[in-house]
Amino acid sequence: MKILITGGAGYIGSHVVKALAEAGYEVLIYDNLSTGNKWSVLYGELIVADLSDKETLKKTIVKFKPDAIMHFAASIVVPESVRLPLKYYRNNTINTLNLLDVMLQCEVKKLIFSSTAAVYGMPEAIPVDENAPMNPINPYGASKMMTEMILRDMHLADNDFNYVSLRYFNVAGADKDCRIGQAYKESTHLITRALKTAKGQFEKLQIFGTDYPTPDGTCIRDYIHVDDIADAHILALKYLLDKGKSEVFNCGYGHGYSVREVVDTSKKVTGIDFKVEETGRREGDPPILIADNTKIKQGLNWEPKYDDLEYIIKTAWKWENSYPEKYS
Ligand code: UDP
Repeated sequence: MKILITGGAGYIGSHVVKALAEAGYEVLIYDNLSTGNKWSVLYGELIVADLSDKETLKKTIVKFKPDAIMHFAASIVVPESVRLPLKYYRNNTINTLNLLDVMLQCEVKKLIFSSTAAVYGMPEAIPVDENAPMNPINPYGASKMMTEMILRDMHLADNDFNYVSLRYFNVAGADKDCRIGQAYKESTHLITRALKTAKGQFEKLQIFGTDYPTPDGTCIRDYIHVDDIADAHILALKYLLDKGKSEVFNCGYGHGYSVREVVDTSKKVTGIDFKVEETGRREGDPPILIADNTKIKQGLNWEPKYDDLEYIIKTAWKWENSYPEKYS
C-alpha cells in the first residue's frame, strides 16, 4: 500500500512516516520544509514543494498513485495564530482545500487529517468527547474546524470519500532511539520550552497565568507521546483501507497535568533547577483540555503504550541533548 504524507518532514509527520515504513507501507513525503527538516525523513522519497503549488501536487499524486493520504502540513502555534490569522487560514484551510481538489481530480478517496483539541475551545464538560460542539477560541483551532467541516461535507456529497480526523491533544516526547524529535529552534510548546530553558538556551521559563480555575491555578493539558499518536494513525489507516467510513477521534490519554506539574517533572528529569517566572495569561488558552478517549479505544482498538509524563519528558530531554548536532 502506498501512502502520501504531507508535512512528513515535520515533528509528528516524521514519526508517522517512521511507523508506516516500519509497518511495511510505501511512503512518499510532500513537504515545503518551512518547519520540517530533511534529516527527519528516515524513510521514503521527499518532494520539496508547497501545497499551494497545485501543479506539482497533482503531478506527484498522478505519478505515485497513493491508496491514501495523510495530511500533517500545517501551522500549529496558537499564539502566532492570534497574531497572524491569515497565515493560519491560508496554510491550514486553503491549502487543505487545494489538496482535496487535487484528490478529487485524481480519485484518491481516503484521507487522514491532523486535527486538534483546539477545535473545542473551552469545552463545557471535561473530559471532552467528540460530540462536544466545536467552538474554537483562536484562529489555529478555527482553521482546523473549517477543514473538518469541509471534510464532512465532502463525505456527504460523495460517500466513497472517507476520512479520519484525529483531534490531537498535547503531543510531546521523541523517538526512543533518538533519531527524530521536535526541532523548532524557537519552540513555544511547554515541554520543549522547559527543556531548552534547562539547557540554558533561555534565561527562564514563563508560566502563563496562575489564576485559572484549576487546583494550582495553572492550565491543565493532556500530554500524549508522539509514538502513541503514530500508532493511532496506523490504526486509522487500516480502518479506512478496510472500507471504514468517515470518523472523528480524540487522541489523548484521558487525564492531564498542570503547567506547574510539567515544570516540576522537567526539573526532576533534567536534575536542573531552572528559573521560572509567573506571568500573565497567554491569549487563546483554555484552562483545561483533557480528552475522553473512549471512542478511539473502542473504534480503532487503540491502546496507549507511553502514558507516563516522566517517560515523555525523558525522551524529549534525550532528544534535546542530541539534535543540535544533527542540525549543524
Ligand atoms: N505554557 C507556559 N509557558 C510556556 C509555554 C506554554 O506556561 O513557555 C502553557 C500554555 O499557556 C498552556 C500550556 O502551557 O497553558 C500548554 O501550552 P503549549 O503551547 O505547549 O500547547 P497548547 O495547549 O497551546 O497547544
